[in-house]
Amino acid sequence: MKVLFLGSGTSTGVPVIGCDCAVCRSTDEHNKRLRSSVLISSPSTTILVDSGPDLRAQALRYGLRAIDAVIYTHEHLDHVAGFDDLRAFCWQREEPLPLFAGEHCLARLRDMYPWALAKEQLYRGYVRASCVNHAGKPFLVGDIEVQPVPVIHAKVETYGYVFRAGGSSFGYVPDIKEMPTRSRDLLRNLDALAMDGLCFPFHHTHLSIDDNIALMRELAPRAGYVTHIGHRVEYGALERYLPDFMHSAYDGLELSL
Ligand SMILES: [Zn+2]
Ligand SMILES: [Zn+2]
Ligand SMILES: [Zn+2]
Repeated sequence: MKVLFLGSGTSTGVPVIGCDCAVCRSTDEHNKRLRSSVLISSPSTTILVDSGPDLRAQALRYGLRAIDAVIYTHEHLDHVAGFDDLRAFCWQREEPLPLFAGEHCLARLRDMYPWALAKEQLYRGYVRASCVNHAGKPFLVGDIEVQPVPVIHAKVETYGYVFRAGGSSFGYVPDIKEMPTRSRDLLRNLDALAMDGLCFPFHHTHLSIDDNIALMRELAPRAGYVTHIGHRVEYGALERYLPDFMHSAYDGLELSL
Protein backbone atom coordinates (compact mmCIF):
# COMPACT_ATOMS: atom_id res chain seq x y z
CA MET A 1 0.00 0.00 0.00
CA LYS A 2 1.20 3.49 -0.83
CA VAL A 3 0.17 6.79 0.72
CA LEU A 4 0.77 10.12 -1.04
CA PHE A 5 0.22 13.36 0.86
CA LEU A 6 -1.46 15.63 -1.71
CA GLY A 7 -1.63 18.38 0.90
CA SER A 8 -0.51 18.78 4.52
CA GLY A 9 -1.84 22.24 5.38
CA THR A 10 -4.64 23.61 7.50
CA SER A 11 -7.71 25.36 6.08
CA THR A 12 -5.85 28.50 4.93
CA GLY A 13 -3.04 26.64 3.23
CA VAL A 14 0.53 27.87 3.72
CA PRO A 15 1.60 30.53 2.85
CA VAL A 16 -1.47 32.38 4.10
CA ILE A 17 -2.72 35.18 1.84
CA GLY A 18 -1.21 38.48 2.97
CA CYS A 19 0.96 37.03 5.76
CA ASP A 20 4.63 38.06 6.14
CA CYS A 21 5.61 35.58 8.87
CA ALA A 22 8.87 33.62 8.50
CA VAL A 23 7.11 30.39 7.48
CA CYS A 24 4.92 32.09 4.87
CA ARG A 25 8.04 33.79 3.43
CA SER A 26 10.14 30.58 3.61
CA THR A 27 11.62 29.30 0.35
CA ASP A 28 11.77 25.69 1.71
CA GLU A 29 9.24 23.68 -0.30
CA HIS A 30 8.41 21.73 2.88
CA ASN A 31 6.81 24.91 4.19
CA LYS A 32 4.40 25.22 1.26
CA ARG A 33 1.26 23.36 2.23
CA LEU A 34 -1.86 22.83 0.16
CA ARG A 35 -5.06 21.86 1.96
CA SER A 36 -4.89 18.39 3.58
CA SER A 37 -5.73 15.35 1.49
CA VAL A 38 -4.16 11.93 0.88
CA LEU A 39 -4.19 9.35 -1.88
CA ILE A 40 -4.18 5.70 -0.77
CA SER A 41 -3.25 3.09 -3.36
CA SER A 42 -2.75 -0.63 -3.70
CA PRO A 43 -1.57 -2.15 -7.00
CA SER A 44 -5.22 -2.32 -8.15
CA THR A 45 -7.12 0.37 -6.22
CA THR A 46 -6.79 4.13 -5.62
CA ILE A 47 -8.76 6.05 -2.97
CA LEU A 48 -8.86 9.83 -2.63
CA VAL A 49 -9.48 11.07 0.92
CA ASP A 50 -11.29 14.46 0.83
CA SER A 51 -11.59 16.87 -2.10
CA GLY A 52 -10.33 20.18 -0.75
CA PRO A 53 -10.16 23.46 -2.67
CA ASP A 54 -6.70 22.50 -4.01
CA LEU A 55 -7.84 19.23 -5.61
CA ARG A 56 -7.34 20.45 -9.18
CA ALA A 57 -3.82 21.72 -8.49
CA GLN A 58 -2.97 18.53 -6.60
CA ALA A 59 -4.24 16.23 -9.36
CA LEU A 60 -2.23 18.13 -11.98
CA ARG A 61 0.92 18.31 -9.82
CA TYR A 62 0.98 14.57 -9.09
CA GLY A 63 -0.38 13.31 -12.42
CA LEU A 64 -3.52 11.91 -10.81
CA ARG A 65 -5.82 10.66 -13.58
CA ALA A 66 -8.10 8.03 -12.09
CA ILE A 67 -9.52 7.12 -8.70
CA ASP A 68 -11.76 4.26 -7.59
CA ALA A 69 -13.53 6.10 -4.75
CA VAL A 70 -13.57 9.33 -2.74
CA ILE A 71 -13.95 9.18 1.04
CA TYR A 72 -14.72 12.21 3.20
CA THR A 73 -13.60 12.93 6.75
CA HIS A 74 -16.12 15.75 7.35
CA GLU A 75 -17.91 18.68 5.78
CA HIS A 76 -15.54 21.60 6.50
CA LEU A 77 -14.81 23.44 3.29
CA ASP A 78 -11.07 22.78 3.35
CA HIS A 79 -12.07 19.09 2.86
CA VAL A 80 -14.97 19.33 0.40
CA ALA A 81 -14.70 22.54 -1.65
CA GLY A 82 -12.97 20.86 -4.62
CA PHE A 83 -15.91 18.48 -5.07
CA ASP A 84 -16.84 19.62 -8.57
CA ASP A 85 -13.36 18.77 -9.85
CA LEU A 86 -14.27 15.11 -9.27
CA ARG A 87 -16.02 15.37 -12.65
CA ALA A 88 -12.67 14.86 -14.40
CA PHE A 89 -12.36 11.43 -12.75
CA CYS A 90 -16.00 10.57 -13.46
CA TRP A 91 -15.69 11.21 -17.20
CA GLN A 92 -13.16 8.38 -17.39
CA ARG A 93 -15.45 5.83 -15.76
CA GLU A 94 -18.35 3.71 -16.95
CA GLU A 95 -19.95 3.53 -13.49
CA PRO A 96 -20.57 6.48 -11.12
CA LEU A 97 -17.69 7.23 -8.76
CA PRO A 98 -18.31 5.63 -5.33
CA LEU A 99 -18.40 8.30 -2.61
CA PHE A 100 -18.37 7.55 1.12
CA ALA A 101 -19.11 10.07 3.88
CA GLY A 102 -20.85 10.41 7.23
CA GLU A 103 -24.56 11.31 7.29
CA HIS A 104 -24.02 15.03 8.05
CA CYS A 105 -21.30 15.43 5.46
CA LEU A 106 -23.52 13.75 2.84
CA ALA A 107 -26.42 16.08 3.66
CA ARG A 108 -24.14 19.09 3.35
CA LEU A 109 -22.76 17.86 0.02
CA ARG A 110 -26.35 17.40 -1.23
CA ASP A 111 -27.13 21.04 -0.31
CA MET A 112 -23.97 22.35 -1.93
CA TYR A 113 -23.86 20.23 -5.08
CA PRO A 114 -27.48 19.25 -5.84
CA TRP A 115 -26.73 18.61 -9.52
CA ALA A 116 -24.47 15.73 -8.50
CA LEU A 117 -26.24 14.35 -5.45
CA ALA A 118 -29.96 15.17 -5.65
CA LYS A 119 -32.37 12.23 -5.86
CA GLU A 120 -33.08 13.20 -9.46
CA GLN A 121 -29.55 13.71 -10.69
CA LEU A 122 -28.98 16.13 -13.52
CA TYR A 123 -25.70 14.41 -14.26
CA ARG A 124 -26.18 10.68 -14.14
CA GLY A 125 -22.92 8.88 -13.62
CA TYR A 126 -21.33 11.65 -11.53
CA VAL A 127 -21.00 10.06 -8.09
CA ARG A 128 -22.81 7.30 -6.18
CA ALA A 129 -23.02 8.18 -2.50
CA SER A 130 -22.93 5.77 0.44
CA CYS A 131 -23.13 6.62 4.10
CA VAL A 132 -20.29 5.33 6.26
CA ASN A 133 -21.62 3.12 9.00
CA HIS A 134 -22.15 4.82 12.32
CA ALA A 135 -21.29 1.65 14.14
CA GLY A 136 -17.91 2.06 12.49
CA LYS A 137 -18.07 -1.16 10.47
CA PRO A 138 -15.28 -1.55 7.90
CA PHE A 139 -16.04 -1.65 4.18
CA LEU A 140 -14.07 -2.62 1.08
CA VAL A 141 -12.99 -0.48 -1.85
CA GLY A 142 -11.36 -2.91 -4.29
CA ASP A 143 -8.75 -4.71 -2.22
CA ILE A 144 -8.42 -1.95 0.40
CA GLU A 145 -10.33 -2.34 3.67
CA VAL A 146 -11.54 0.96 5.10
CA GLN A 147 -12.34 1.26 8.80
CA PRO A 148 -14.17 4.48 9.82
CA VAL A 149 -12.95 5.95 13.12
CA PRO A 150 -15.35 8.51 14.71
CA VAL A 151 -13.53 11.44 16.34
CA ILE A 152 -14.55 14.71 18.01
CA HIS A 153 -13.84 17.95 16.09
CA ALA A 154 -15.60 21.33 16.20
CA LYS A 155 -19.12 19.93 16.82
CA VAL A 156 -19.14 18.46 13.31
CA GLU A 157 -19.55 14.72 12.69
CA THR A 158 -15.97 13.77 11.79
CA TYR A 159 -14.21 10.55 10.87
CA GLY A 160 -10.68 9.37 10.62
CA TYR A 161 -9.99 6.14 8.73
CA VAL A 162 -7.75 3.11 8.90
CA PHE A 163 -6.79 1.62 5.53
CA ARG A 164 -5.55 -1.97 5.27
CA ALA A 165 -4.14 -3.74 2.22
CA GLY A 166 -1.47 -6.36 1.57
CA GLY A 167 -0.87 -6.85 5.30
CA SER A 168 -0.10 -3.16 6.00
CA SER A 169 -2.09 -0.50 7.78
CA PHE A 170 -2.34 3.30 7.65
CA GLY A 171 -4.44 5.57 9.87
CA TYR A 172 -5.45 9.08 8.75
CA VAL A 173 -7.05 11.59 11.14
CA PRO A 174 -6.53 15.10 9.74
CA ASP A 175 -9.04 16.97 11.91
CA ILE A 176 -9.53 16.03 15.54
CA LYS A 177 -9.76 17.62 18.98
CA GLU A 178 -10.60 14.55 21.08
CA MET A 179 -10.32 10.81 20.52
CA PRO A 180 -13.08 8.64 22.07
CA THR A 181 -11.84 5.50 23.87
CA ARG A 182 -13.37 3.10 21.33
CA SER A 183 -11.71 4.98 18.49
CA ARG A 184 -8.32 4.76 20.22
CA ASP A 185 -8.66 0.97 20.14
CA LEU A 186 -9.10 1.10 16.34
CA LEU A 187 -5.89 3.11 15.88
CA ARG A 188 -3.39 1.20 18.03
CA ASN A 189 -0.16 -0.30 16.67
CA LEU A 190 -0.60 0.69 13.00
CA ASP A 191 2.28 0.69 10.52
CA ALA A 192 1.80 4.43 10.10
CA LEU A 193 -0.59 7.03 11.49
CA ALA A 194 -1.01 10.64 10.31
CA MET A 195 -2.84 12.98 12.65
CA ASP A 196 -3.83 16.62 13.10
CA GLY A 197 -1.17 18.93 14.58
CA LEU A 198 -2.26 22.44 13.71
CA CYS A 199 0.03 24.55 15.89
CA PHE A 200 2.11 24.62 19.06
CA PRO A 201 -0.32 26.55 21.33
CA PHE A 202 -3.66 25.18 22.58
CA HIS A 203 -6.38 25.20 19.93
CA HIS A 204 -10.14 24.87 20.52
CA THR A 205 -10.95 22.53 17.65
CA HIS A 206 -7.64 20.86 16.71
CA LEU A 207 -4.84 18.96 18.42
CA SER A 208 -1.77 21.00 19.24
CA ILE A 209 1.62 19.51 18.37
CA ASP A 210 2.06 18.38 22.00
CA ASP A 211 -1.47 16.86 22.05
CA ASN A 212 -0.56 14.98 18.89
CA ILE A 213 2.71 13.64 20.36
CA ALA A 214 0.97 12.48 23.57
CA LEU A 215 -1.73 10.65 21.61
CA MET A 216 0.84 9.15 19.22
CA ARG A 217 2.82 7.78 22.17
CA GLU A 218 -0.35 6.08 23.45
CA LEU A 219 -1.41 4.70 20.05
CA ALA A 220 2.14 3.58 19.25
CA PRO A 221 2.24 3.42 15.44
CA ARG A 222 5.52 2.26 13.91
CA ALA A 223 5.76 5.73 12.33
CA GLY A 224 3.72 8.82 13.24
CA TYR A 225 3.14 11.87 11.01
CA VAL A 226 1.84 15.32 11.85
CA THR A 227 -0.43 16.84 9.19
CA HIS A 228 -3.04 19.64 8.75
CA ILE A 229 -0.27 22.05 9.78
CA GLY A 230 -0.65 25.82 10.12
CA HIS A 231 1.65 28.69 9.13
CA ARG A 232 3.18 29.17 12.58
CA VAL A 233 4.93 25.79 12.33
CA GLU A 234 8.26 25.66 10.49
CA TYR A 235 9.07 22.28 8.93
CA GLY A 236 12.68 21.97 10.13
CA ALA A 237 11.83 23.17 13.64
CA LEU A 238 8.98 20.65 13.85
CA GLU A 239 11.22 17.80 12.64
CA ARG A 240 13.74 18.62 15.37
CA TYR A 241 11.00 18.87 18.01
CA LEU A 242 9.31 15.51 17.27
CA PRO A 243 10.35 12.21 18.90
CA ASP A 244 12.34 9.73 16.78
CA PHE A 245 9.35 7.69 15.56
CA MET A 246 7.53 10.81 14.34
CA HIS A 247 7.90 13.15 11.36
CA SER A 248 6.23 16.16 9.86
CA ALA A 249 4.16 15.34 6.78
CA TYR A 250 4.77 17.57 3.76
CA ASP A 251 3.17 17.93 0.35
CA GLY A 252 4.44 15.17 -1.91
CA LEU A 253 5.56 12.86 0.92
CA GLU A 254 5.03 9.27 -0.17
CA LEU A 255 4.96 6.30 2.20
CA SER A 256 5.43 2.71 1.03
CA LEU A 257 3.92 0.43 3.64
ZN1 LIG B 1 -9.48 20.78 8.07
ZN1 LIG C 1 2.24 33.23 7.98
ZN1 LIG D 1 -12.30 20.55 10.11
